[in-house]
Amino acid sequence: MNRSEVTKENRWKVEAIFNDLEDWKKALNSLLKDNKLNLTNLLQYKGKLHEGPEVLKKSLDANFNLERQLTKLYTYAHLRHDEDIADTENKGAFIQMMGVMNDYGVGMSWFEPELLSLSEEKMKEYLNSPALKDFRFHLEKIFRMKPHTLSKEEERLIALSGNALSTSYKTFSALNDADLKFGEAIDSNNKVYPITHGNYQVLLRSPDRTLRQNAFETYHHVFAQYQNTLAELLRGAVERNIFNARARRFPSALDAALYPNKIDPKVYRQLISTVKQNLKPLYRYFDLRKKILGLDDIHLFDMMVPLTPSLDMKVEYPDAEKLLIDAFKPLGSDYTSAIEKGLKSDRWVDRYENKNKRSGAYSSGCYDTDPYILMNYKNLMRDVFTLAHEAGHSMHSLLTRKTQPYHYGDYPIFLAEVASTFNEELLNHHLLNTLKSDQEKIFLITQKLDDIRGTLFRQTMFAEFELKIHEMAEQNIPLTPQALKTTYYELAKEYFGPGVVVDDIIAIEWSRIPHFYYNFYVFQYATGVSAALALANKVLKGGANDQEAYLNFLRSGSSRYPIETLEQAGVRMDSPEPIMGAINYFDDLVTKLSTLIK
Ligand SMILES: [Zn+2]
Repeated sequence: MNRSEVTKENRWKVEAIFNDLEDWKKALNSLLKDNKLNLTNLLQYKGKLHEGPEVLKKSLDANFNLERQLTKLYTYAHLRHDEDIADTENKGAFIQMMGVMNDYGVGMSWFEPELLSLSEEKMKEYLNSPALKDFRFHLEKIFRMKPHTLSKEEERLIALSGNALSTSYKTFSALNDADLKFGEAIDSNNKVYPITHGNYQVLLRSPDRTLRQNAFETYHHVFAQYQNTLAELLRGAVERNIFNARARRFPSALDAALYPNKIDPKVYRQLISTVKQNLKPLYRYFDLRKKILGLDDIHLFDMMVPLTPSLDMKVEYPDAEKLLIDAFKPLGSDYTSAIEKGLKSDRWVDRYENKNKRSGAYSSGCYDTDPYILMNYKNLMRDVFTLAHEAGHSMHSLLTRKTQPYHYGDYPIFLAEVASTFNEELLNHHLLNTLKSDQEKIFLITQKLDDIRGTLFRQTMFAEFELKIHEMAEQNIPLTPQALKTTYYELAKEYFGPGVVVDDIIAIEWSRIPHFYYNFYVFQYATGVSAALALANKVLKGGANDQEAYLNFLRSGSSRYPIETLEQAGVRMDSPEPIMGAINYFDDLVTKLSTLIK
């Protein structure tokens, strides 16, 4: 179907942002001067931020005011672009907008450094100033970087090194996304399948075991051929993190990465130790997998194949809406009526595929728009879960923006996947209570088990590997291909346990994971799912207080440090409790599954 054939009720209501591209252009042009972003109003404050709270407040207001208008323009351009990525007019608008956003970033790059060059006394004065009361936390977050900020000349050198230091990631991406070719895999009937990043996971889900094994081995052997290059690239990323940490006088790369969000390294280490001491439920799941699949031995290429034929159950889009609204009832009628209005009359969702529409799904938007959802809904149960996930993000955005001022109207990455995972869990709970057949229950439980395995256990293994290789480099232990492979293989052995045949080739898996270039990012998947499950458990089993605490969590945005936001909702990430809760829940599901299978 062409975009122009999509009926109104199936499109998102972008006309609520701007009538059309003409209107959008008018609004954009009002911010430009000679085709460039007009920053005159902001540049008048350059060099003056020390002059007093009033001046600083005016500059912050002016800055956020402009940013607000820009993000609204950006939102419209990127939504229109994603509707039909081949549409030249939309593409032109989107590219122009990216240029304007870049102008803004470059044009305002003096702002934070100037704030950080203020004296300690000045910072204290600003933090206590009634005029700046609304920006207190925002300023505190910037000011706490002061001890790790260097002299003007040193900062200039660090800024100049930025491009050169990002070479290893860019090289990895070029190799991984463009240059590497993965060959073909053959199934048990000698049918040939090309292997690409896109279909590798699909091949691993095939019921044909020969195909799974061939795909797994061929794919990893390609990476193994380049092990020296890939080891140097990863070492480059680790060295970059260590350089930045040492230059800014942090005790370690881990400390440097967690500092801006005020996450205690203890949270990170405790995640690893708690998961590692409690791997038995995971081993039980692998054993059960082996039994259900009827295998004599279970290999790493048997981990993704579905345990039951996928559900034939078709869910039409209007029924998905209804399911969500029912499933979200534990969050109260204000919540469910808001989501109902969003899905129906406000048309947040762009529902189905059309020609050249962006693939996948997301929740997007900004402070002055609705929290739009892009879907490629195909009537599968999996799509209903995707919609629940994105609706979780959107309701988080909605409640935050309704409550917080613009500058706290976003949420930190550490919390980003909590609301989405929470809503998936509500849907799962609702379906388990309403669906009757064992087949359906088995489907839902294995889906959940695989989710938790992927986000909690696997990402914790990644987090441990990441920490290990940074510590090795910090102790001058060379990150040779062999050292990386041995470290990775030992972890794999431990996390898969004695019941799984841990194929040798897995030792090279580190070399294909882009997330290892993200600087201590992956642990947030594990903490996020644990927090979400803990909160869902509280809301499902608790009373009005628990519901209100969760809704307040959704209303908090970035007005506090993420660990404090969770603590106020009753989840303490500095204790092992939420992680243990998630592991015990996983264990219960394994027991349920094994009973159902019998
Ligand atoms: Zn998400």
